[in-house]
Amino acid sequence: MSSLRFKAVEEAHKKKAIVVEAPSALPSEYFGCNVFNRSTMSQYLSKEALTAVQDAVDNEVPLDRSVADEVAAGMKRWAIEKGATHYTHWFQPLTDGTAEKHDSFIDYVNGPGEKIIETFPGKLLAQQEPDASSFPSGGIRSTFEARGYTAWDPSSPAFIFDDTLVIPTIFISYTGESLDMKAPLLKALHAINEAATAVCKYFDPKVKRVTSYLGWEQEYFLVDEGLYATRPDLALTGRTLIGHESAKNQQLEDHYFGAVPTRVVAYMKDLEFVAYKYGIPLKTRHNEVAPNQFELAPLYGEANLSNDQNLLVMSLMKKVARRHGFRLLLHEKPYAGINGSGKHNNWSLGTDTGVGLLTPGKTPAENLQFITFLVNTLMAVHKHNGLLRASITTANNAHRLGANEAPPSIMSVFLGAHISDVLDKIEISTSEEAIVMHDKKILKLDIPHIPEVLLDNTDRNRTSPFAFTGNRFELRGVGSSANCASSLIVLNSIVAAQLKEFKTEVDKKIANGLSKEQAIFEVIKSYIKISKPIRFDGNGYSEEWKAEALKRGLDCESSIPEIYKRYTSPESIEMFKTVGVLSEKELYARNEVKWDIYAKKIQIEARVLGDICLNHIIPVVTKYQSLLLDNVVKIFKVYPADKAEKLSSMNKTLVEEIAERICTIKSNVDAMTQARKAAHQLSGEYEKAKAYHDTVFPYFNKIRYDVDKLELIVDNQMWTLPKYRELLFIR
Ligand code: ADP
Ligand code: MG
Repeated sequence: MSSLRFKAVEEAHKKKAIVVEAPSALPSEYFGCNVFNRSTMSQYLSKEALTAVQDAVDNEVPLDRSVADEVAAGMKRWAIEKGATHYTHWFQPLTDGTAEKHDSFIDYVNGPGEKIIETFPGKLLAQQEPDASSFPSGGIRSTFEARGYTAWDPSSPAFIFDDTLVIPTIFISYTGESLDMKAPLLKALHAINEAATAVCKYFDPKVKRVTSYLGWEQEYFLVDEGLYATRPDLALTGRTLIGHESAKNQQLEDHYFGAVPTRVVAYMKDLEFVAYKYGIPLKTRHNEVAPNQFELAPLYGEANLSNDQNLLVMSLMKKVARRHGFRLLLHEKPYAGINGSGKHNNWSLGTDTGVGLLTPGKTPAENLQFITFLVNTLMAVHKHNGLLRASITTANNAHRLGANEAPPSIMSVFLGAHISDVLDKIEISTSEEAIVMHDKKILKLDIPHIPEVLLDNTDRNRTSPFAFTGNRFELRGVGSSANCASSLIVLNSIVAAQLKEFKTEVDKKIANGLSKEQAIFEVIKSYIKISKPIRFDGNGYSEEWKAEALKRGLDCESSIPEIYKRYTSPESIEMFKTVGVLSEKELYARNEVKWDIYAKKIQIEARVLGDICLNHIIPVVTKYQSLLLDNVVKIFKVYPADKAEKLSSMNKTLVEEIAERICTIKSNVDAMTQARKAAHQLSGEYEKAKAYHDTVFPYFNKIRYDVDKLELIVDNQMWTLPKYRELLFIR
């Protein structure tokens, strides 16, 4: 009898919602109270220091060291008043997630002695050298020369987490290469600002700055912590490696947008309360398609800050979940057979004059600008579709992409009927007057007391990996556990490079005597023709699309280790160089890290799966088989042979099925282990990753197949691991 599983299930059923005392204040009253934001800074810094910080953030003016001293002193005073004793440089290593090392504020007053003080000089704010030598660097930092520096990013405000003042930083090597996700993101944001501002000046010379925005939608699963604790695969790999589908899962679609379960509502409220204190503007919460799957989304914001907030919210979600007796699953595919989790990245560009560059305008001039940015985005995604795909590819996300629930693994762009129509017209017309956008249509309802409904300029397509949604693009393939920076680095870089090229072409035509409008129009027209293959409004899940995409010359590679090579193709190297975001050396180094992580994830999963089979499945199943055999023997003792033959036949068949399946499982596990050991021996990160992908990974589903069949025939009471119906439906 599997007491552990039954006890966990019993406990989970008993759990009640933990209602956290509702705050009596409105969110607007405590929003950002844990953040050293501009209004807090104004209370702790001199006017000059505040202006210097604002100038650094808004106009990219370098900060003086003396200002850093004053900011650090102000930060320390604020942090200590809020109960902080430590500070940390918070950075984003190449492993996803964030890293930190805490130091206390104390120091000797006058060298070693009895007296200490709390101090935080500007140099500690500005820069540090954590001995983070075991973070992957792809060979840029060999450990004997392991200098890596973290440097303060003033554009993302410091905050207090527990008793620690947390300072967002970049992480770079002694020789200046990026060792993290934030440094190249900041470079990409700088590149798009420059390139887009230059293009904006065709339309409005007053534009000084273009900001790239991000609005993420974070999907996740919750599972009762007791059940989680009894599943070694969940605990060690973040996903279930075995488990038969529950009879009922998401087929009725009754979970999607349904009433949120009470225990989960309590969790969400608690999370929102905490997130608001960190200035994270959470706006939306709802059930997702799969049972026990949910989503939250904030108001969108400047990309670098919004991404930091996403990383912080993932930590907060994990922490708050524990308070409510849940474990948070951010894995892209925790359960087979039902939807996995993603993180849609809504992306747009806006000027400091308040114009959304991906928002259709009211006048023909505004629309020429809108079409310019839209078509350049199309061109960029068309040219670099394989690279954009690579930026969202991970071992975890691979389970989700390409399955019929998430964007297909092939990049394409959805524009909707209306915008497609406008582009088609431009393609065949001879002057920019062709750019006529319809006003928003009004939907008249025959229900008198309901106001008319304004229709958006685009319809929806949930099967498209990159969809235009009226005033922004939605990149839908990003994994739920990913650092959004990975795809934002690529997206902003490719569009920046494209805008630069566009400007060169337009300027050439103007120099040859064309009017500005004509020149822009001609270049756009040619881009619409070239980028046509990337436009696809149909069903991205269909088999026909795969064949069609191949015909169109889109990148259809499906092997993960191979996909990463898109980062080091000559076109990618050139593109990243043009915009100054990543050097060839950095690109190669980062790929080494990606292959290494991939290989290690498959290695861990293979080990866990082997353990589960040998320690859980086979012993339990063998015991059950013995019971059956025992029963057969007893039947023969009690009944005459011919009758016993009949009465025992079902159990004999079961005994044989079990024997066969156990043998298959055992031989597959042995073969997998051998393949794993062989892969491990290889030198070269790519070779290793490829071997894990080609020779180890294929065993996972084979092994799982027989285990899941056994789950259906073995006595429910004997099965040790919580089943899908328990993991998914207890809440
Ligand atoms: P849906 O699931 O229908 O796409 P949600 O409300 O769940 O919509 O999420 C919409 C997301 O888009 C939010 O994160 C929001 O902040 C973001 N968003 C809205 N407008 C913009 C914009 N102009 N630029 C970037 N992100 C945006
Ligand atoms: Mg969405």
